[in-house]
Amino acid sequence: NYTIKEILEKGKTIALQEVTVQGWVRAFRSNRFIALNDGSTIKNIQIVVDFESFDEELLKKISTAASLKVRGEIVESQGAGQEIEVIAKTIEILGEANPDEIQATILQPKQHSLEKLREQAHLRFRTNTFAAIMRVRNSLMFAIHQYFNEQGFVYVNTPIITGSDAEGAGEMFSVTSLDMDNLPKDEEGKVDYSKDFFGKHTNLTVSGQLNGEVAAMGLGKIYTFGPTFRAENSNTTRHLAEFWMIEPEMAFYNLDMNMDLAEDLLKYVIRYALKNCPDDMQFLAERFDKEQTQKPANERSELSLMDRLDYVLNNQFIRLTYTEAIDILMKSKHNQKGKFQYPVEGWGTDLQSEHERYLVEKHFKTPVILFDYPAEIKAFYMRLNEDGKTVRAMDILFPGIGEIVGGSQREERLDVLDQKIEQFGIHAEDMWWYRDTRRFGTVPHSGFGLGLERLVLFVTGMGNIRDVIPFPRTPKNAEF
Ligand code: ATP
Ligand code: MG
Ligand code: MG
Ligand code: MG
Repeated sequence: NYTIKEILEKGKTIALQEVTVQGWVRAFRSNRFIALNDGSTIKNIQIVVDFESFDEELLKKISTAASLKVRGEIVESQGAGQEIEVIAKTIEILGEANPDEIQATILQPKQHSLEKLREQAHLRFRTNTFAAIMRVRNSLMFAIHQYFNEQGFVYVNTPIITGSDAEGAGEMFSVTSLDMDNLPKDEEGKVDYSKDFFGKHTNLTVSGQLNGEVAAMGLGKIYTFGPTFRAENSNTTRHLAEFWMIEPEMAFYNLDMNMDLAEDLLKYVIRYALKNCPDDMQFLAERFDKEQTQKPANERSELSLMDRLDYVLNNQFIRLTYTEAIDILMKSKHNQKGKFQYPVEGWGTDLQSEHERYLVEKHFKTPVILFDYPAEIKAFYMRLNEDGKTVRAMDILFPGIGEIVGGSQREERLDVLDQKIEQFGIHAEDMWWYRDTRRFGTVPHSGFGLGLERLVLFVTGMGNIRDVIPFPRTPKNAEF
């Protein structure tokens, strides 16, 4: 019982063997050729039906989207475009699909818009584009685990429900065990949510980092890879309310080593996907290139998808301090009203994605690692530089994406950390466990967060983050 991918890979070597194939009908031509697909590959297998040897009633029920179990013989194909095909001996219809009813769905074989695919997210797994993306996503996830495994990292699971709100970005979903019909009230009659998790306040995690740090302070090199949640009530093409993040954390690593690791990881996993998903990648590359020709010239990518990936693989990422980046942005002609929506005003400004993308796509035309950001615009836990103004933060910016990685060397000195905790208005008592690692054998350490969906966006050349996750969670999307 082979998958269609396995059968097609075996090709002529299994000619004349009998096989069973199961799948969904993509097309039924001339009452004679069925294109069958089972999701294992973008390619269909051709089933040849000699209509004289089958019951007419049975053949009538075979239509696009129906599911079949076919037993037949592998033969070398006479037709162009395929090496082998299956001569059907028996055909069992597992599930019919009424042709009138599929008219209104994305199963109808024609070009559908991505918007339409999103509206029928439950059916899009059966479309070429989405299935290809899912297989590439799978390959990238596997490559990530393989990379860290080869590098001696320990995979640690950090909690989804957490009592710490250390990022302090105010983007948290709270978790409640309270009886919603019987909420506890304070003296003024206001609902008291402060003890909603069996007596304590908790949130869905926005990052596994703080937990990851304390794990690395015993295990050395660890990574977490799990869902993270941010109540981003915005509708960009780069933000989800639920996304998957890869977060390595390494004891004894400084910022340079952190950047080296991130660059190496990104190149490794992109290479892996290209090698292991050649058919899907070719399909997505053709799709991307065709899409570019339909865009206005100023929005068009200068490179084809494959060239863009090659370029990233074969060039060192440019490393640039935040201060140098501000300099470039201030001097740029682009930094005027009408060009940037938010013109860069000077040192200290938080970069918007339009600024990041300008640096990558227009100025350098290559991935950029920005580092040494002003302390005020970054989180409290980042290592303060000797200048007292900047922290050892780094963001990796990719063409077509903007920020794909955010990371830093962490503040390992207890006295400096305590000052930052106070400055940022965080309750030091809540951080007792985090502070302990600095009290008992502190070491320099670093880590970063890589957004899986942004990586998949980059590799597949897709433009909207909703199209690279099985079930997107956005303000408008949480039905199933
Ligand atoms: P951005 O500036 O794009 O909002 P961020 O700086 O808030 O991102 P970090 O807290 O640095 O994000 O998270 C690390 C990584 O997680 C980011 O570099 C990005 O790849 C990914 N990421 C962050 N927020 C989201 C989101 N809402 N949806 C999908 N991926 C995200
Ligand atoms: Mg953000
Ligand atoms: Mg950012
Ligand atoms: Mg960031």
